[in-house]
Amino acid sequence: IYKRSSALFAEAEKVIPGGVNSPVRAFKGVGGTPIFVKEAKGAYLYDEDGNRLVDYINSWGPMILGHAFEPVVKAVVEKAKKGTSFGMPTEIETQIAELAVSMVPNIDKIRLVNSGTEACMSAVRLARGYTGKDKIIKFAGCYHGHSDSFLIQAGSGLSTFGVPNSPGVTKGTAQDTLLARYNDLDNVRALIEANKNEIACIIIEPVAGNMGCIPPVEGFLQGLRDLCDAHNILLVFDEVMTGFRLAKGGAQELFNINADIVCFGKVIGGGLPVGAFAARNEIMNYLAPLGPVYQAGTLSGNPLAMAAGLAMLTELNADAEVFKRLEEKTAYLHVGIAKVLNENNILHTINRTGSMISVHFDGATVIDFDTAAKGNNETFKTFFHGMLNAGVYIAPSAFETWFITDALSYEDLDFTI
Ligand code: PLP
Repeated sequence: IYKRSSALFAEAEKVIPGGVNSPVRAFKGVGGTPIFVKEAKGAYLYDEDGNRLVDYINSWGPMILGHAFEPVVKAVVEKAKKGTSFGMPTEIETQIAELAVSMVPNIDKIRLVNSGTEACMSAVRLARGYTGKDKIIKFAGCYHGHSDSFLIQAGSGLSTFGVPNSPGVTKGTAQDTLLARYNDLDNVRALIEANKNEIACIIIEPVAGNMGCIPPVEGFLQGLRDLCDAHNILLVFDEVMTGFRLAKGGAQELFNINADIVCFGKVIGGGLPVGAFAARNEIMNYLAPLGPVYQAGTLSGNPLAMAAGLAMLTELNADAEVFKRLEEKTAYLHVGIAKVLNENNILHTINRTGSMISVHFDGATVIDFDTAAKGNNETFKTFFHGMLNAGVYIAPSAFETWFITDALSYEDLDFTI
């Protein structure tokens, strides 16, 4: 049985307010005391209380090859010893850009920033600037980070992260942000008709990972592509989750659909803070005459983060089988989860695309954010603690996509509760 003390949590609460990644957030929905990770190596987390956990979430996705992955660690240590300089060109930034451009379809230039949030915010800003139009379409339940561009209240998915109807969440951009229903092309068409010549871009998670790995229905992404082409709208794929995970070229490659602007985060940083947005020359060249603050900050493209990202992408690029292996392992886990849940008579729906998988409980197929935010999904709570007691860590919220790492052995993927 998994045991942990609450002293560290009490101490943390005194100095760290609630919010994403804070210890308070981490166990908000499931109750109990959060886990304080001391070390992470390969497929395992080691906590301050001396427990070892098999990790089925890999820090929400970046550590796709496992924690403390040797080539990444080595690259960062070597770079740190040589010192870093910010705001000046470095060869390592060009190297990661060249490699990313070679791996991902339909992009010529890429801009390195510090997070997925920045990448999505910058992509929308670029779309608005390039098209000269203000409105955007986003999908309810898709999450594109915590910038003001997306912190509108209705349907932003924000309540997922514990801030439903929060005061202080800006409404400034809400009027320009049109909310569409995921997988509903007619709904998108109607919004475009009602806002003719005003829409700069449609931004979408090509697999809706923030409402639990909902795949696009057949023809949906192509339908969006066609609508964008017909109405001079840019299609933005937020590939923060899917990029360098579903395939070498991400969702664009997997679904064989080209977006106009693509956003990256998570895997591209190898565990350090890196985000990126990318497009063809004609769109990216719009940025060339514009000042740095329009598109980057002090630490953007910093060599330490670039070293981690470059080592990660180099490995993924060189290992032709890695995405297939990840998918096979996830498919194996899929069978295992279904078996365990069925044996325990737990009503569930499993969604999986490649190596992204999610479990919805009690017959929910698309998550109800408010229910989840209140943390009253009792079935999930029981399951979560069952998993913990079995020595497996999954995300402490029912709607979260699970990301496994290549460091997990098939034995690690077997569990019982
Ligand atoms: N877009 C998607 C699809 C995400 O899943 C996330 C984070 O989970 C973001 C954007 C924001 O990225 P970050 O947390 O690196 O700012």
